[in-house]
Amino acid sequence: MTVSEGSLEAPTRHPIAWQSADFYDEDKVHAEMHRVFDICHGCRRCVNLCTAFPTLFDLIDEGKTGELDGVDKHDFGKVVDKCYLCDMCYMSKCPYVPPHRWNIDFPHLMLRAKAVKFKKGGTRFRDKLLTSTDAVGKLASIPVVVQMVNAVNKAPVARKVMQSVLGVHKDRILPEYTSQHFRGTARPDSSFPVKGGKSAPGKVAIFSTCYVNYNEPGIGHDLLKILQHNEVPAIVVEKEACCGMPKLELGDLDAVAKLKQANIPVLAKLAREGYAILTAVPSCTLMFKQELPLMFPDDADVKAVQEAMFDPFEYLIMRKRDGLLKTDFKTPLGKVSYHIPCHLRVQNMGQKTREVFELVPQTEVNTVERCAGHDGTWGVKTEFFADSMKIGRPVFRQMASTAPDYISSDCAIAGRHIGQGIAEGGPGEGKSEKQHPLTLIRIAYGL
Ligand code: SF4
Ligand code: SF4
Repeated sequence: MTVSEGSLEAPTRHPIAWQSADFYDEDKVHAEMHRVFDICHGCRRCVNLCTAFPTLFDLIDEGKTGELDGVDKHDFGKVVDKCYLCDMCYMSKCPYVPPHRWNIDFPHLMLRAKAVKFKKGGTRFRDKLLTSTDAVGKLASIPVVVQMVNAVNKAPVARKVMQSVLGVHKDRILPEYTSQHFRGTARPDSSFPVKGGKSAPGKVAIFSTCYVNYNEPGIGHDLLKILQHNEVPAIVVEKEACCGMPKLELGDLDAVAKLKQANIPVLAKLAREGYAILTAVPSCTLMFKQELPLMFPDDADVKAVQEAMFDPFEYLIMRKRDGLLKTDFKTPLGKVSYHIPCHLRVQNMGQKTREVFELVPQTEVNTVERCAGHDGTWGVKTEFFADSMKIGRPVFRQMASTAPDYISSDCAIAGRHIGQGIAEGGPGEGKSEKQHPLTLIRIAYGL
């Protein structure tokens, strides 16, 4: 038999058949895992991407036969738990993705296995809580409660209790909450005339995201200032719920569908009115660009939102292409170590944030394109914290290697994780300032 190495055609992705009974059939999922794991065993290209593959290969190598048949299928769950659905194996390594006849989509197989586990009731309370970003954000950011939550998150004794009761690792630096929500404090300016270009619409609607709304509203305010400086009329999406990515990563696909029901009608209306929809969190952008369209392939509203959704830097570069981006930067940024998060890389749009950084005079960019290993909630869990830091170590080293003035990642959570990793490198490390790319561009404009 001749086996073709990779495919000459562009990779495609099959819709996620999450509404069919087969999707949740445990025997069929195990059979598919067996098929795919066996191919991975023969291939092993992904061994250094994350800890899911080494877990699989260790199970095989330490099994009775040294082959997949020596692994108890009940241990397959150990591989599934180590996958945080970053998509990098599918997007950057695997030569056997569709249309190749081997039809390997490792992340979506892991998603299916997580969905089966969730349906069977095998998901921990801790994981359900951590993925309820909207509800937790609302509660944790109530005035008075917010001071308590932020204090507890920094108190070593309280963190030990949290670790034993909740399974949140005591050493993970957690984001602060604020009662000054982005959505309550944003003052978007929609008064400018709409100047549409060939590449992107001339007016913007901002989907805040749970993280920007409850944890770092400054990122959203910086985006608004950049848009205002460029005379782009902007609004904040009138009503929003969580994008659904945390629930997707948990395998709770019914919850994803409910959130989609809350968001898509509002966003589709804006898309049809000609707005570009921007979110400053790559995972949320990816949810609307990729995962919801694969879960609801025949939904015209989902499609309309997919087409209107932009990463903020993708939008700014399109405005530049149309001759509509101001480049009157006043403040050099010096040395910037910039990390591209996986959920941005898999959007397949090139390095748009780096391109914008390079427009700023006297700015030297050290670009690091490798998984930092945090994921939204995975790296805070007690059992995965050490793996998360281990996966991140090469990124911490590369980010610190140029003694940068700033460290920056489009994913604010990855940025904090990298800051923590660099600081743990020892005295003298971690002196660089951590700032989101939108904040840096706001600074560069002198706003
Ligand atoms: S999706 Fe990411 S975490 Fe999951 S197996 Fe692939 S590379 Fe590893
Ligand atoms: S996902 Fe693809 S590239 Fe990675 S180990 Fe499996 S077969 Fe090889």
